[in-house]
Amino acid sequence: EEAEREALLKAHELARAFYAAQLASPAGTAARELLKRRDVRSEAVETFGIGYAPPSRDMLVRHLKQQGFSPGQLVRGGLAVQRDDGSVVDRFRQRLLFPIHREGGSVVAFGGRAMADDQVPKYLNSPETPLYTKGRVLYGLHLSKHAIRQAGSVVMMEGYFDVLQAWQGGVAHTVASSGTALTQPQAQTLRRFASKVVLSFDADGAGQNAAAKSGDLLVAEGFQVSVALLPEGEDPDTFVRRYGGDAYREKVSQARPYLDFVLDRAAARHNVKDPTGRVAFLNEMLAVAARIPEALARDQFADRLAHRAQVGEETVRQEIRKAAV
Ligand code: ATP
Ligand code: MN
Ligand code: MN
Ligand code: MN
Repeated sequence: EEAEREALLKAHELARAFYAAQLASPAGTAARELLKRRDVRSEAVETFGIGYAPPSRDMLVRHLKQQGFSPGQLVRGGLAVQRDDGSVVDRFRQRLLFPIHREGGSVVAFGGRAMADDQVPKYLNSPETPLYTKGRVLYGLHLSKHAIRQAGSVVMMEGYFDVLQAWQGGVAHTVASSGTALTQPQAQTLRRFASKVVLSFDADGAGQNAAAKSGDLLVAEGFQVSVALLPEGEDPDTFVRRYGGDAYREKVSQARPYLDFVLDRAAARHNVKDPTGRVAFLNEMLAVAARIPEALARDQFADRLAHRAQVGEETVRQEIRKAAV
């Protein structure tokens, strides 16, 4: 209930400050070195409130108990976990921590990055709690909402480091989905700030699949969607570090219309020259077309589809109208 939520918000704020202090202390040396290796500057550390959870089993639990929080409360808030023997220990240990804020700015969860690349899991996040529903929060929005409104568009990426590096490179109108495809509540939140979305997911299989899922949803929600394509294997983080913020901004400005991206992907999977392949390609794309809300955009898609499939434009438009009813 409300009092519990208030208490958990307070606990998260205290935890954020605790982890930030750990990062700045001698215990945080290795974490600061990791941030340095990843070209994260102190300005970004402060702006995003990055912290460090030491390896200790229950430092945070002890700290928050002193502030009057009960172990049960900390478990319900996702900051601690209860072991089989009944003891309550810190959830995050020996990880770099990214506070996850809701739109208004309060911290409701954390994303924890392992100190070593080969550690499993690489990311450990807060569970769903009374404060935090994963599919509702967009990482970074509390910082970027004004820039998004000003730009009229939002660049959507996968990860914390992507948002961070883009910000350092001067691209601030960003949010991250935290490694999954966008959800409907998240799309509705974005709607209040922008009508255009540039998808900037990782240039790997998982990233492109997540981009496709997010794009379908955004198109159905009436957004103008495009896809920024990076060289194979890059994500916004590595791209900005390798080529700089201006080069990244250029990639964003050259983003390809989402429906062209969809056509490209499908055309790569089907042999359009072969009659069977062409029918499969057309059927798949007709299903996509049926979800485009505006008639004009649908007809434009139909024309591009007809061109790709070497079929008459009018035929395709008619098929789409049939599929749409
Ligand atoms: P890094 O840049 O930190 O080395 P990465 O770019 O390889 O990581 P991805 O695998 O691309 O990371 O994941 C992107 C984002 O997805 C992460 O920033 C995180 O928000 C989220 N994520 C990835 N794996 C997990 C997981 N196991 N649990 C929760 N979130 C995850
Ligand atoms: Mn990835
Ligand atoms: Mn990535
Ligand atoms: Mn990355």
